Amino acid sequence: MATYNAPLDDMMFLFEKLRDNKHYNDLEKYKEVNADLAKDILEQAAKITENLILPLAKTGDENPTKLENGVVITPPGYKEAYKKFIEDGWTSLSCDPKYGGQGMPKTISTFFDEMLSSASLSFKLYSELSIGAYNCILHHGTDSIKKKFLPNMVKGIWSGTMCLTEPVCGTDLGLLKTKAIEQPDGTFKLSGQKIFITSGDHDLTDNIIHLVLARTADAPAGTKGISLFLVPKIQVKEDNSLGPRNSVSTGSIESKMGIKGSATCVLNFDEAIGYMIGPKNKGLSSMFTMMNLERIVVGIQGLGISEIAYQNALNYSKERKQGKSNNSKLKNGADAIIDHADIRRSLLNMKSMIEGERALSFWLAQQTEVSLYHNVSKIKQEALDLVSLMTPVVKSLFTDIGMEITSDAMQIFGGYGYTKDQGIEQLYRDNRITPIYEGTNSVQAIDLVFRKLANKNGSVIENYTQLVKNGIDESKNNVETKLFAEKLNQYLKILIDFTTWIEKSMKNSKDDVSAACNDYLKVLGLVAVGYSWLKVLDVSFKEIKNNKIFFEDKIETAKFFFDRILPRINTYYKSGISGSENIMKFKFN
Ligand SMILES: Cc1cc2nc3c(=O)[nH]c(=O)nc-3n(C[C@H](O)[C@H](O)[C@H](O)COP(=O)(O)OP(=O)(O)OC[C@H]3O[C@@H](n4cnc5c(N)ncnc54)[C@H](O)[C@@H]3O)c2cc1C
Repeated sequence: MATYNAPLDDMMFLFEKLRDNKHYNDLEKYKEVNADLAKDILEQAAKITENLILPLAKTGDENPTKLENGVVITPPGYKEAYKKFIEDGWTSLSCDPKYGGQGMPKTISTFFDEMLSSASLSFKLYSELSIGAYNCILHHGTDSIKKKFLPNMVKGIWSGTMCLTEPVCGTDLGLLKTKAIEQPDGTFKLSGQKIFITSGDHDLTDNIIHLVLARTADAPAGTKGISLFLVPKIQVKEDNSLGPRNSVSTGSIESKMGIKGSATCVLNFDEAIGYMIGPKNKGLSSMFTMMNLERIVVGIQGLGISEIAYQNALNYSKERKQGKSNNSKLKNGADAIIDHADIRRSLLNMKSMIEGERALSFWLAQQTEVSLYHNVSKIKQEALDLVSLMTPVVKSLFTDIGMEITSDAMQIFGGYGYTKDQGIEQLYRDNRITPIYEGTNSVQAIDLVFRKLANKNGSVIENYTQLVKNGIDESKNNVETKLFAEKLNQYLKILIDFTTWIEKSMKNSKDDVSAACNDYLKVLGLVAVGYSWLKVLDVSFKEIKNNKIFFEDKIETAKFFFDRILPRINTYYKSGISGSENIMKFKFN
């Protein structure tokens, strides 16, 4: 089984030294959330993920969810662990105190999301979608809906789902068919089939609150005719007690490559009673509240799985002895594989991406809080624009890199990585869903170049590149960070050139842009991670006297990132601007 120690030092370093967003620090609601409180919460979070949740990863993989007589049974140990999980209040961590939540910021809950993803993604998904559904209801539900459903979701005794996908539509939701017929009392009856629904049914909670996209009888075709509905598995009476079963049933559950402990369900709605959430025909935009936050969390899943893969590869590389290294002092026998330059390169590849991603996601957590809660609308909007720009980047980059890291970790284990004993191949399999769900990574890249870059006539990306430029200029004034800043500046220029190329190509050939979108996303993502590293370096050089080992480690890891990872940008750029003529004319015989 893979082992795991939550990276508390790195998380606390970020919390203490990189809460550098003035607008975030101005937020009244988080004034009391100081480093002591964060440390206390994260230490408890580490305990529960390392001790209670980590063992569930193997159990879930070996005993996938089952469907017995129409009821989904979770793997052994899940029920007991979930009971403890909600008793300790973990589902309520970031929820609004008005509905029983603890009101903690994303600067803390993001770290908890990472720890959970490292320990067991399957187990995490049961509460993750509930938080997504909670957010959607919080932002779009009426007061009476919120009062009725949110407190029990916050407690974790009810859970939530998001039901978009149907047999004929995943990416293209304009094709969806589920019908919602209005009743005289203002409720709706929903009929249709949803597939691939995470936690669509299970035995962990007393009720499941489905958020379902469907069409009313008079809805226009396409995405403009989609509304959002809340459909409880079990109806809730006026006094909030549970009533009769609603007509939602589980047709089957999927047998999958990974996340086998997570129930992925086919749900049949047969005149199920539902309540409209948000305005009619605006369901997609309401659902996007949930999906945008959720997409960032999927990126964090990639980061969490990368972290545990790295930790295990590092430990193994210190134990496994094979061959003599170039600088071996041994007469007989073999050195540990960590002494070989290529293994060291691979480990640093992982470490420098992981720590850079963590710093970027911490920055994004601050921006997200500002975008949700700042009381100056201009500041709020600017933060929202940045979050919206970075959402597809974090979702795709972190999950794609998660595939690279889990594959490289398996490689470090050699044959023992491919076989089941060490739990490494499971990380690769579990991570493989993350580039697919919540909108595939290619669709994220399309969203980035066609929507996010065009947003506000290109001023959002311009503001972001200016932000990075300002950071670079500051770091150039410091003799220790000057060289790093200059290197990042070269790549920032490539990002700016690539952005101009996209803008021009948009007018001449949309295929050129589509064929370049994944490359562009990687360039923007790596510049963003590089900028995060630059901030880490600024602090590290200042603080090195206080903790030499920790900050030297940071500086050396950053060196690797700047020398070995950032140059990937050259390749992505060259490949991206090579056009699409050959691609589009090619005859696939
Ligand atoms: C384990 C699991 C859990 C899931 N959980 C949920 C859930 O809780 N709720 C839910 O509603 N759904 C869920 N899904 C569904 C998931 O979100 C979809 O599978 C995903 O969005 C892709 O849709 P699709 O499978 O229909 O692929 P398709 O949309 O058919 O796409 C197939 C391929 O075509 C590409 N493609 C599609 N359109 C374009 C385009 N315009 N341009 C270029 N390329 C394109 C895609 O990138 C992809 O590579 C889950 C799926 C799985 C496997």
